[in-house]
Order: sequence, then C-alpha cells, then structure tokens
Amino acid sequence: MAGEKKTFSRDRPVVIIGGGIIGFSTAYCLSLARKTGRFITIVEKSSTLFTGASGKANGILGDYGFKPEAESLGKLSWELHQQLASQHGGRTAWGYRDVIILDLHHAASSDPSEVAFSLGNPPSSLPTWCRRYEKHARTLTSKHEHAARLDPAQFCEFLRKECVEMGVEILLDATVQSVGVENGSLERVAIERMGNRRTLECHSLVIAAGPWSETVLSGLFPNSRVRIPSSKQPSSGNYIVIKVPKWDSRKDTGVCHQVYLEGPFGHKVDISSRPDGTFYVGGDLPAQEELPGSTGDVQPQVEYVRQMETLQTVLSLSSDEVEIMDTGRADRPCLDHGRPVVAHIPLDDLLGITYRGSTEGREVEQGGVYLNVGHGRDGITLAPGSGQVMSELIGGIRPMSADVSSLGSL
Ligand SMILES: Cc1cc2nc3c(=O)[nH]c(=O)nc-3n(C[C@H](O)[C@H](O)[C@H](O)COP(=O)(O)OP(=O)(O)OC[C@H]3O[C@@H](n4cnc5c(N)ncnc54)[C@H](O)[C@@H]3O)c2cc1C
Repeated sequence: MAGEKKTFSRDRPVVIIGGGIIGFSTAYCLSLARKTGRFITIVEKSSTLFTGASGKANGILGDYGFKPEAESLGKLSWELHQQLASQHGGRTAWGYRDVIILDLHHAASSDPSEVAFSLGNPPSSLPTWCRRYEKHARTLTSKHEHAARLDPAQFCEFLRKECVEMGVEILLDATVQSVGVENGSLERVAIERMGNRRTLECHSLVIAAGPWSETVLSGLFPNSRVRIPSSKQPSSGNYIVIKVPKWDSRKDTGVCHQVYLEGPFGHKVDISSRPDGTFYVGGDLPAQEELPGSTGDVQPQVEYVRQMETLQTVLSLSSDEVEIMDTGRADRPCLDHGRPVVAHIPLDDLLGITYRGSTEGREVEQGGVYLNVGHGRDGITLAPGSGQVMSELIGGIRPMSADVSSLGSL
C-alpha cells in the first residue's frame, strides 16, 4: 500500500539450496530477523549434513587479509563470530580459541631481519610441539587478537540446532528440480526426495550449494544469461587429523597455533593445534581435479595423504605414538575472480527473457533468486556475515550491515 512502511514479513516462504555453513548461516540469521524459522526450508542433496568443506575445514578465522571488496563482509563476520562465541558458550560448544599464526622459512634464510614482527624471545614464541624449528626464521602472520579458530563441524551443529529450534525445515536427500514462475515472480519450487515429488511455495530461493552452485543454477535455469564463474585454480584440499595422546595442549597457554612450513612435496602445508589435543594438517592439491558429483564422492588422495603423514615428524613430541584420527578431502567453492557473491539475481537474466510486467515495490523484499556462493578459502570465516547480509537482502532491509556492492558481479 502506498506510503505504508514495509516491515520484515515472516511468512514469505524461503527455500535455501545447500545445507553447508553458508546455507545454515543464512537460515539462522533470517530466522533471528523474522523471530521464527517457519517458512524457511533447507534442501540438502546428501543424506548426512556437513560432509562437504563446511564440516571438514580447518576453522581458522581472522579479521585481515580479505580482498578489498570483501573487507566490509570480513569485518562484520569477525565481529559476529566473537559475539556468537561469547553469547552461546563457543569456547565449549565449538572450541573457539585465539590463534597465533606463524610462517616458518628454511634454516638457510634464518636472518633475524626476516622476522616481520617482534616476537619477544624467539625460542619461547614457537609452540612447544614445534621446537625442532627453533633455528628457522619465522614470520608472525597474525597475533592472537586478530585470529581465532573453531571446530567447523561443531559450529555447524550449533547453527543446525538453533535453526531447528526456531522452526526451520531441513530436507535431506532432496534436490530442487524446477522452479515455478508466474507473471515474473517466483511462486514455487518442485522438490524431489527419495523418489517422491513435492511442491513448495517459494517467494525467495537462495542458492548456497558451495562448489555445486553453478550446476544447480544452470540445471534450474538452462537459458540463464548469468553463470557462476568457477575457478580454474586448484580448489580441493586434503587433510589429516592426528592425535598425540601424551601431548598436553595446556602447555601452550591456552592459545592455539597455526604453523605454515615447507611440505615434503615442495609447497606449503599448515599444522594447527586444537584444544582437544589433536592437530589438523592441511594442504592443497597440486592440480585441479574435476568436481565430483556430490560430497560423498570426494575421496582423499592416498598418495598425497601418505606424504602428509610424514609431516608428523615435525612435531617435536618425543617418541609418543602418533595416531591418525581422520583423513579426508573437500572442495572449496572458488570463483575465478576470487570473491564471494552475495547478491540478488534478476529473474529476467535467469530466464533469458525480458519480463515487461510491473516492477513496482520490488526493490523492497523483491523475492526471486539469490546467490550466496564462492566463499573459497574463507567460508568458515565469512559465514556469519554472509548469512546476515543475505537475510537483509531477502528482507529488503537497508542499509545492510556490510557493503557487498562490489562483490556481486558475475
Ligand atoms: C581443506 C579445507 C580447509 C579449509 N579451511 C578453512 C579455514 O580454516 N577457514 C575458513 O574460513 N575456511 C576454510 N575452508 C573453506 C570453507 O570450508 C568453505 O569456504 C566453506 O565450507 C564453504 O561452505 P558452503 O556452505 O558454501 O559449501 P559446502 O560446505 O560445500 O556446502 C554445500 C552444500 O550443498 C550441498 N549441495 C550440492 N549440490 C546440491 C543440490 N543440487 N541440492 C541441494 N544441496 C546440494 C552439498 O551436499 C553441501 O552440503 C577450508 C576448506 C577446505 C577444503
């Protein structure tokens, strides 16, 4: 109605494709803003949640190092992570801790001038488990006020529980098969789940399917003029989790470390200590591989993982038996311009037609299709801000909490 102040409507149905950290952060923030999760549905293709990068990532967060276009989103996300951890007991619930990040160079370059920041007395600045590298030069990439860590699977589980409590519907083993558009407006989606079809009313559709987002978009909108430009760079990462039973994580004064060093295969790997006494060893793939059909098809590369296992020798932890707790691989949703996209996409562009109907009032809570994709290496970090901004986009709330205007281009 003309002149009437628009409010955040609570009952316009929203469907989110993809139940990773980005899909759940979107549902969580939208539910908080609406004060209910009813009319919000997450459609997840896998039968188990968080089997993609969101449940397998390392979980290092920071307030720095973003591309200029993502700076505002990064700062918002950092603040939200801190708020969530303090309001919901993140220290216990998802292992939230400060982190010191170090980059170690070969002994040959152990020139003290290479130490970028003053570390105090160098020997004591290395974590106890890495003392073998005392003679190496090191760069302090981040002090603990600027970096933190969490357990991504536990953080995702927190989001899931909150969403369920607020009434969000989660459909596993499900995919969106088609969209129903009438008079230029999105009206419904057809869901397929274990051989059964179901139609859901849908005013806003959010694509948050991580690396599979372009497959989802082009499947639903074969005539789309918009494409999500997936990166040609390697986006997959192998990791191992190791446990050293006799190592006491409290020795490092409650702060966790992430240490980068040269791996046995000529490029950097990183080893991170975790509050439960385990270590996460991560590294990239030397070459890009074709994206598997689903998270369940992503297998660790045995040869690569074996090489990684040899890295346990860097842990100066006497002769303790080191147990390999887990090995895995996951794909990061990387786009070729290196930025995430948090944006509304006009239906005209998706349908490949020009719709000539009235657009009156559409800028506020316009509905239609939204992308929350391409978070690359920073998806755990950027999730809360991306969820918050996406909920504001959907709700027509302006100004938004972060400036994402230069992220949106495809
Ligand atoms: C080894 C590794 C370490 C990492 N470390 C860090 C880190 O320390 N800090 C950090 O900030 N980030 C890190 N990341 C990046 C981060 O994990 C990702 O950016 C983030 O998890 C992406 O989340 P997402 O929800 O977009 O995607 P995903 O986690 O991939 O979730 C997408 C979901 O969509 C589902 N899906 C796919 N197709 C469909 C469909 N057709 N219909 C319905 N659902 C579908 C998938 O099954 C999946 O559950 C790391 C990544 C890797 C691989």
